[in-house]
Amino acid sequence: MAGNLSVTFWGVRGSIACPGHSYERYGGNTSCLEVQCGPHLLVFDAGTGLRPLGNKLKAEGPRDIDLFLTHSHLDHIVGVPFFPPLFDSHSKVRFWAGHLLPDRRLRDVICTMMVAPLFPVPIDIFAAATSFNDFSAGEVLRPHEGLTLKTAKLNHPNDATGYRVEYGGKSICYVTDTEHVAGQLDANILELVAGADILIYDSTYTEEEYPHFAGWGHYTWVQGVRLADAAKVKTFVAFHHDHSHDDAFMDGLANDLAKARPGSQVAREGMTLTP
Ligand SMILES: [Zn+2]
Ligand SMILES: [Zn+2]
Repeated sequence: MAGNLSVTFWGVRGSIACPGHSYERYGGNTSCLEVQCGPHLLVFDAGTGLRPLGNKLKAEGPRDIDLFLTHSHLDHIVGVPFFPPLFDSHSKVRFWAGHLLPDRRLRDVICTMMVAPLFPVPIDIFAAATSFNDFSAGEVLRPHEGLTLKTAKLNHPNDATGYRVEYGGKSICYVTDTEHVAGQLDANILELVAGADILIYDSTYTEEEYPHFAGWGHYTWVQGVRLADAAKVKTFVAFHHDHSHDDAFMDGLANDLAKARPGSQVAREGMTLTP
């Protein structure tokens, strides 16, 4: 039905995948979201969560996909060679990235990952119709009729891009791999997420952990809640969980977050949110 907007989480971890029993409930795959905008399928980030998403899509038949990257650190692109739609000659996959211009191009970066002796086969093995689209964070993208993506530059080593998807009068923001300047909210992000229905935000560290990792380009759910309050966001979602935070730890974090901002969510694999 036109007007339907939803987000499903296929990977919620930062930095490295963490399989194992103690990560079963929240999930161990790295960043990957499926965003459905009516008939249009958008994917955000290509972490290890891209593989199970791709398996689901393969079972549904050929697809037309726009895949937006926040940036090209390995935890956000390592799933690319394992995305079944790329091996389907009837599918189309358009890649997008906003953090590389003017010095680099997305196609070259993916080629640099899929090159011997790091990887046995180059991107020529993809059978789908692919395109690699570079833009500059801050641009507004309109890949389909009625669908708008606003973008903003994030504060992260080697840069990253935050996204705001607007469709059918609703909005979902995906802002991960970013860090504020201590004591002040990021004006770029405040503008991007103002009044959004859903804000998915980099909540890698706790307040206690953060001082040990200042400058690494990540932040905390406490800072995210401040941002969400200031921007009058409806639903805050903690995302990009640290690989040291197992299920028991995440339960505690979820409790603290629910008290601090009722209605907030902790991202977990398999969860779908509809604004
Ligand atoms: Zn990351
Ligand atoms: Zn990163």
